[in-house]
Formats: sequence, C-alpha cells, structure tokens
Amino acid sequence: MKALQYEGAKELRFIEIPIPEPKEDEVRIKVKAVAICGSDLNGYKGVNSLRVAPLIMGHEFSGEIDCCGEKVKKLKKGVRVTVNPTLYCGECENCIKANYNLCDKKTVPGTSVGKVNVPGAMAEYICVREKNVIPLLDSITFEEAAMLEPMGVSLHGVKRAGNLKNQKVAVIGAGPIGLMAIQCICNFQAEEIVCMDLIDRRLQASLECGAGRAINLKADALPEEKFDVVFDCVGNEKTITQAAQIVRNDGKIIVIGMAASEIHFPIKKFVANEFKMYGSYQYLDEMKEAMELLANKKIDVKKMITSVLPLEKAEDAFESLCSPETKEIKIVLKP
Ligand SMILES: [Zn+2]
Ligand SMILES: [Zn+2]
Repeated sequence: MKALQYEGAKELRFIEIPIPEPKEDEVRIKVKAVAICGSDLNGYKGVNSLRVAPLIMGHEFSGEIDCCGEKVKKLKKGVRVTVNPTLYCGECENCIKANYNLCDKKTVPGTSVGKVNVPGAMAEYICVREKNVIPLLDSITFEEAAMLEPMGVSLHGVKRAGNLKNQKVAVIGAGPIGLMAIQCICNFQAEEIVCMDLIDRRLQASLECGAGRAINLKADALPEEKFDVVFDCVGNEKTITQAAQIVRNDGKIIVIGMAASEIHFPIKKFVANEFKMYGSYQYLDEMKEAMELLANKKIDVKKMITSVLPLEKAEDAFESLCSPETKEIKIVLKP
C-alpha cells in the first residue's frame, strides 16, 4: 500500500509498504479521511519531539473496516468508524481510575509518544485494536468524522471548566482547537464568549463559531474586564500571562494548548488572586459525545474543514498550513 512517510524537517516521501495484517484483537481500517493536526504540522516543521522520523503521521481519521482479527467481537467488515487514538495500557494506576488520557504507558498512532513510533493513518490502511474503535452514526460523513478527535480535545477542555452557565468566558487562540472550543461552549449557556487572537481572519471565524465578541490583541490592548473562565488554546508564555491578567480572582484558567514546554509564570498573581489553573489533555469519552452533538446539529465541523485534498497533495497541504497568510483551518486528506 501507499503511505506518506515523514523523514525529517520539511521532508515527506511516499513509500510502498505491505498492507498491515490485524492482530487478533485488531481491525484493519481502509482510511477514507485523515486530518492534519497542529502537532503534525509542528512535526513537519521538525519542532515536535513527538514526531521522530521515519514516521507515518495521522491520528485524526476515519474509514471503513476492511477485515477483523479472530478475537474481534462486535465489529465487522464494512462498518464506518473513527478511532480514539489513545492506546492506553489499561493496567496502570491512571487507567484503573479510568483516566485513560493520563496513562503513563500510552502510545498514539502517528506519533512517537514514549519513544515508540506507531504508524498513523496517512496511508491506505491502518490496524487498530477493537476497543479504541468508534462506529459512526449514519449521518456523519468521513470528513466530519476526522474532526471528532480535535473536537474531543476541545470538548474535554470545556468540560474541565465545570458549570459554565452564566459565566463570562474568554478563549485565547482562534486556531482549530479554540474555534471548536467556542462551538462546544455555546452548548453550555455561558453568559458571554469573547475570543482573542492576533489574526483578524481567525477572529472572524470565531464569530462564525459563536463568539459574541472578538478582540485582536495586536491592535487592542488586553481588556480591563475580568472573566470567570479563560481557555488558553495556545499555551505559550505570552498567552498564559494574558490569561492570568484577565481571569477574575478565584476564576479558572484551562490550558488546552501546549505550544511551550516551559515558561516564566506570574506566580504572585496566582497566589494572591487565588485563581485556579487546569491542564487539559486529549479526551475520555468526548469523541463520542462530540459525535452526538454533531448528529444533533449542536456543533458544525464542516466549517472547520477548509480543504479536502488527495493524500498525494499532502506536501502542498502542509506547506499552505505553514504560511502565515494561510486561509486554512483544517485540511482533510483522502488516501
Ligand atoms: Zn491532533
Ligand atoms: Zn495505563
């Protein structure tokens, strides 16, 4: 089969490899749609330690089951599916508490978590164990289904904030995760959602996703007003400091973005203002919950997908996402 292999910064190559055979508890999926994640883009740029070449990337995907291992019970050939790509161990302390996203031994297809390279979905076929497979509701298209993984990330972050009813909410960062977070927040009766970013085009998209107001932090100063909850969908020193400035005393900051690994942090403000700060990583059952929201038209992922291209055009797709002028939000590739 044909697969797209990442071979180092800005180096992608099509390779021909045998079609993988499913293990006894796995199904083989014919990939129909695979989206490019911001983390894949950083991999392409050579700045993501979780993408070690040579690697077939791709963890946001959907497809059709092509064959099943002997011990597969519920799934069968022809079923349309997406996949929760967190391959948790099921045995560690975190897994026993059902915090699968925090599993210390997890691996993820298309990444190099824990120094283990697991082949991803930028290929014609992928094998995944049955318990991570999510059958699609009939109304969900393959392209939409490829958005359920990032939507799951956003929804998990939004749920980490607790009850948002009548809360004044700020979202910093109007990339895909921020825009999807705004769509999710719209379902939780917040009093107001204000989006902040540096790029007008993205701020416009945030209004289309349900933000009531958009502030360009380049043009306007950080607002004086305070927010009950601030979502940082960027996660660098600047945005975390901004979040600390606009969160009310005793308010909450949820950090979903992880652009920086270490930062200087306004610790005095944190102590004296008693705000709370939560990390948010991946998801638990939120991919399924996002599918229900999608089926009930409570969110719209179609407007997140700005291009659908054949996998052969992957290099163009990655390059266009690298450009600061890009109009793309999410690109879906079709192997
Ligand atoms: Zn992703
Ligand atoms: Zn575990």
